[in-house]
Amino acid sequence: MAKEPIYEGKAKKLFEGPEPGTLIQHFKDDATAFNNKKKASISGKGVINNRITEYIYSRLSEIGVPNHFIRGVNMREQLVHAVEIIPLEIIVRNYAAGSFAERFGAIEGEPLGMPLIEFCLKQDELGDPFIAEDHIYAFDLADPIEVEEIRHYAVRINDFLSGMFLGAGIKLVDMKLEFGRVFDGETFQVVLADEISPDTCRLWDIETGEKMDKDRFRRDLGDVAEYYREVAKRLGINTEAAVLKVVDSDKNKRSTSKKTPAKKPAAKKTTAKKKPTGRK
Ligand code: C5P
Repeated sequence: MAKEPIYEGKAKKLFEGPEPGTLIQHFKDDATAFNNKKKASISGKGVINNRITEYIYSRLSEIGVPNHFIRGVNMREQLVHAVEIIPLEIIVRNYAAGSFAERFGAIEGEPLGMPLIEFCLKQDELGDPFIAEDHIYAFDLADPIEVEEIRHYAVRINDFLSGMFLGAGIKLVDMKLEFGRVFDGETFQVVLADEISPDTCRLWDIETGEKMDKDRFRRDLGDVAEYYREVAKRLGINTEAAVLKVVDSDKNKRSTSKKTPAKKPAAKKTTAKKKPTGRK
């Protein structure tokens, strides 16, 4: 009998992992936008996003950005550390687009003077509202040291990925990041979690300006999976099934052992902390 996910979001499911403190992150083909108002299934999207996320998180590990990725399991699944998700969506913007362009009346594509970091509360029911840093402390979502770390990693990730995509002829316009905390035996560490893929970034072709990301779905531009696959191809990522056959057998090793999620010290309020949710 198929295993039940311990959590199902809009684009991903989470299953218990083979070891305590691990999870299997499963990428679905489902696409949603405008806070779930627009829905579709895009064949192959889950596989491509899994492979792109796996590639990016591995590269980020190499440059010292701590993240939840452990290893690929199969075409749609990856083994990750269980983290306590910090209920914030961190948006990093290099060019005006999307909600920023609307909010400030900017022209899409206008370069911003510096990478902008914005915080949104991760709460679907409220439409993930824009919040100020003071709200984070008032709502006890994270402490100032964690916010400083999040900013530091967000800038580092943006610098690295902007260069990486540039090398593939792609402009990184903006992206959304999510962080969590894990207990390392002594203290809680901030780590990058969730995914980085064309679902969570705006990616434009350098030459033609064509959109290669979820705006193809949001704005009915068509060929969503084809453009996602092109992003993978330009990064040198193989999205064909054959390459991962060897590690496919890991799926069978999933145990039913109970997850032991890392907890913040008791002094910290946990009421505002939510289970990880999928993105729009
Ligand atoms: O819509 P907005 O312009 O604020 O989105 C900024 C970036 O964050 C885009 O790349 C978008 O795909 C991503 N995002 C996301 N999940 C959300 C909100 C935004 O991946 N819930």
